[in-house]
Amino acid sequence: MNYSPYLILTVFLIVTLYFIFRKKKIVPIQLSKEDQVLLANHVVFYRNLNHPRKQLFEQKVANFLGATIISSVGVEINQLDKLLVAASAVIPIFGFENWQYKNLTNVLLYPDTFNTDFQFEGTERNVMGMVGTGYLNGQMVLSLSALHHGFSKSAGKENTGIHEFIHLLDKSDGATDGVPENLMNHEYTLPWVKMMHEEIKKIEDNKSDINPYAITNQAEFFAVVAEYFFEQPEILKDKHPDLYEMLRKVFGQNLAH
Ligand SMILES: [Zn+2]
Repeated sequence: MNYSPYLILTVFLIVTLYFIFRKKKIVPIQLSKEDQVLLANHVVFYRNLNHPRKQLFEQKVANFLGATIISSVGVEINQLDKLLVAASAVIPIFGFENWQYKNLTNVLLYPDTFNTDFQFEGTERNVMGMVGTGYLNGQMVLSLSALHHGFSKSAGKENTGIHEFIHLLDKSDGATDGVPENLMNHEYTLPWVKMMHEEIKKIEDNKSDINPYAITNQAEFFAVVAEYFFEQPEILKDKHPDLYEMLRKVFGQNLAH
């Protein structure tokens, strides 16, 4: 049988175009029983959810792990490390129906704190996490020890993993400025900025229990207060009802009862 060369060429083109234009699907990773046990043992936020909400959390964790490359430099990482990164990503967006961190492809774990040139040995080792900009867009660097500390019993109001993912949410509107325009109704923007500046003044006057790192700038204020919101919602609501109320609206989660 003789096929026309045109027919062969057409078939070849169609097949080629199919492979070029087919959508790359994110392959969802299923969490194993062991993963669920690790989450239950290490992530209080997950442990406090009811069964259907736990399943939703697992699904979001699995989606995140399917879409993000987690690697390390200078340290071996295990499944718990990856699950803690994913939990840090999912906790802030758990109130949103469908949120993808479009501005993230890689999370790089360093053994301990590092300096701003990404060296983790040396004298200036004070950075626990960082969201890349410029040529490092899409990258996040996290200190593995800070990540674990954030999920430990002694974490207090702090959680470095959550802090860095808050920066990513803030950045998603184009500006890491403490005003998450994608998550906040326009009418709340000015009251929020005013609220931030009032509280920054109180921290400067030593009249606030919020971590003084928050006075660095508005972006750090937002990230630090959001950590507080997710780590100790009852205390935040009690001591700072206005801040709590605003963050409840921003994140669509009412964690204090
Ligand atoms: Zn920060």
